[in-house]
Amino acid sequence: MSTLQAVRGTRDLLPPETELWNRIETTVRRIFERYSFGEIRTPIFEDTQLFARGVGEDTDIVSKEMYTFTPVADPPRQGRSQPETAQSLTLRPENTAGVVRAYIEHKLGETGQLQKLYYIGPQFRRERPQKGRYRQFFQIGAEVIGPPSAGSESPLRDAEVLEMLATLLGELGISSWKLLLNSVGSATDRPRYVQTLRAALEPVAASMCADCQRRAVTNPLRVLDCKHPQDQPIIATLPRIWDSLDEGSKEHFAAVCTALDACGVPYEHDHRLVRGLDYYTRTTFEFVQVGAGEGGLGSQNALLGGGRYDGLSEAIGGPRAPGIGFAMGEDRLVLALEAQAGQTPLLAAAYIAPLGERINAAALVLARELRGAGLRIELGDGSFRLKKSFEAANKLARAIVILGEDEVASGILTVKHFASGEQTKVPRGQLGAFLASPPTSTSN
Ligand code: AMP
Repeated sequence: MSTLQAVRGTRDLLPPETELWNRIETTVRRIFERYSFGEIRTPIFEDTQLFARGVGEDTDIVSKEMYTFTPVADPPRQGRSQPETAQSLTLRPENTAGVVRAYIEHKLGETGQLQKLYYIGPQFRRERPQKGRYRQFFQIGAEVIGPPSAGSESPLRDAEVLEMLATLLGELGISSWKLLLNSVGSATDRPRYVQTLRAALEPVAASMCADCQRRAVTNPLRVLDCKHPQDQPIIATLPRIWDSLDEGSKEHFAAVCTALDACGVPYEHDHRLVRGLDYYTRTTFEFVQVGAGEGGLGSQNALLGGGRYDGLSEAIGGPRAPGIGFAMGEDRLVLALEAQAGQTPLLAAAYIAPLGERINAAALVLARELRGAGLRIELGDGSFRLKKSFEAANKLARAIVILGEDEVASGILTVKHFASGEQTKVPRGQLGAFLASPPTSTSN
C-alpha cells in the first residue's frame, strides 16, 4: 500500500522550526497589544458569497483559487419545518472579508468606537506551489475599522498602521525591507481609471502575454502586476492611476506621506501598486524584502500587503465602515528570518541523566522541580550507559546533571557545562539558579 503524504502545497511544521513560528507570534502579539489591538478569531470556512462580493468575482482569488464545496444538505428532521438547504462554502482565502462580516454581524459599529482587531491563522488558495507560496499558508493581519464619526477615514490611521508595521518588522529582526505605497483612489476614481486603462489597453493588449490579454478585458488593473519582461515597455506607457485621482484622494495620500516623513518611516511611491483585491480604495501598500540574496524570498518577496477598504462593509450588506488593514505572510517571515540567521536550535538548560533505572523516579522529581522554576529540561533514562547519556545531552542541552544514588542521598549534584567543559558540584537548592545563569559566571 502506498504511504500517504501531506497534500500538494501543504506541509507539516516541525520543531525546531515551530520555535521560530512561536517567537514570531509572541512578538507580534506584544506589539499589537502596545498599539491597542485585540484578537479576533473568525471561522476557517465562510459562505462563498462573502468572498464573491467582498473580494470580487473577477479577482484571481475568487475566479480560480478558492477551495469551494457544497456539503450534502441535512435530511429533513422531525420538528423542523424547513429542511436545511445546501449552501456553498469556501475555505477562507484571506481574512479581511471575514473580519468585516463579524464587525457587521456583531454590530461593532454601534459602539461608535474604532475597532482595532488582529488575527493569526491559516488561509487557503489554490495557487501553483513554490518556495514561499503554499496552498495552506498563514497570515498575521490587522484591521482598523469603524464609523466615519470615529475617525476611521483619517489618513492618520493609515500612517499609524504603517508605522506599526515598520516597528513590528524591526522587532522581529527583519531589517532589509522597502515600503511601496500608492493610492488607488476613491470609489469613484477607481472605475474612472479602469475605463481609461481599458481604453489604453485596447490597441496594445494583443501584443502582450496571454494573462494580460485576459486581464485587459476582465480586470485591467491587474495588468499593472504583470512580471513578464516583454510587457514592461508597454506597461510603462499606460496612464497612471494618480492622474485619475480626485483632490480628496491626493490630499489623503499627501497626509499619509507627511505623517510617515515625520516619524522617519521611509517609503517609495509605486504608481503600479494596485493590488489584486477589488475592495481597496485610496491607500495601498506592500512591504517587500530587499537585498536578501541567495537565501531570500526570490520572486515571492512580498512580506505583507494591505490597504484601505472604505466600501467593503457596504459591499457585503453592512453600514458605512471605512477601514484599513494588512496581511503578512507568516511563512515568508519564517523564510526571511531563517535566511538571515541560519537555524540555531534552542537548547535545554540541562539534561538530567539518572544512573540506573532505580533512579528514574528521583530524576523525574528533580526535572519537575527545575521545570517548576521555569527551566527547559530534558530527562534521560536510567537504562542508558553514561556515554550514551552524554551523547544525547550534548545534542539537546547546554549542560548535563548526573544523578546517582550518592547525589540523591547527599543533595550535591554534579553539573557539566558543554561549552566551557567545566564540571561543578552544586547543592540541589541552588541548582535552578546555577543552570539559569551563564556557565562562566558560576564556576568555582
Ligand atoms: P494578499 O492577501 O494576497 O495581499 O497577501 C498578503 C501576504 O500574504 C503576501 O504578501 C504574502 O506574504 C502572503 N501570501 C499570500 N499568498 C500566499 C501563499 N500562497 N503562500 C504564502 N504566503 C502567501
